[in-house]
Amino acid sequence: MRSKDKEKKSNRRLLIKRIALAVISRILFWPFFLINRSYHVILFGISSRRTCNGFTLYSIENNQIFFANAIAALNKLKEIDLRKYERARYLVPIIAHVRQGGNFYKQSAKAFYVDEVPDDILYFASEIVHEATHAYLLRKGFRYYKEVRERHERICVKEQLSFIIKSIKAQSNVTELQKQIYMQQWKEWFQEHLTSEWWHNKNIRRSRFLAIKKLLKELFS
Ligand SMILES: [Zn+2]
Repeated sequence: MRSKDKEKKSNRRLLIKRIALAVISRILFWPFFLINRSYHVILFGISSRRTCNGFTLYSIENNQIFFANAIAALNKLKEIDLRKYERARYLVPIIAHVRQGGNFYKQSAKAFYVDEVPDDILYFASEIVHEATHAYLLRKGFRYYKEVRERHERICVKEQLSFIIKSIKAQSNVTELQKQIYMQQWKEWFQEHLTSEWWHNKNIRRSRFLAIKKLLKELFS
C-alpha cells in the first residue's frame, strides 16, 4: 500500500515537473521557436522543390537521386498499402533532403528530414511509414520523452516491418519458400538494428557529429 502511495506521489511529481518545464520553456524560449520556424522556411526556400501527388519534396543540394528514389518510394507505398500512403500524405506531407544529421521526423516542420538517401526503394518507403507513425503518435499526444523513446521506436519499427512483410507477401514472381526467407532476413535485420539504440542522446549526438563531419568533408574535398 505504502509503495503504491509512493509511486503515485512520484508520478504526480513527474507530471508537475513536465508541465512546469513545458510552461517555462514556452515562456522563456518563444523567440527560439520563432527562429526554429524561420529556419525551416529558409531551409526549404533555398532548396530545390518538387511535388508528387500531394507530397512536397525538397533537396538542399538538388540531389536527383533523392528526388527519383523518394518518388519511387512514394509510388511503392501507394501500390502496397494505400491506407498507409494516405496517412503519410496527411501526417508527413514534406520529405526534405536537408542534411540535418540522421533521418528523422521533424515535428515543427511536419517533415521527414532525410540525411542519407536510401538506395533500396522498399526500405525508403518503409522509412516513410516509420516517420508517419512517429507523427501519428505525437499527434495523439504521446510525447517523445527520454523515458518512452524506446517504446516509440519499437512501435514505429513494428509498423515499418509489417509494411515490408505485406510487400513481400504481395510479390507474385517469388516462391513461398523465398518469401519466408526474405521475411526472416528482414525480421533479423530490424532486430539487429534495434540493438544500436539510436534514440539515446549520446547516440543522437554521435550520429549528428558523424553527419556534420561527412558534410564538411564533402564540402571541402
Ligand atoms: Zn524513429
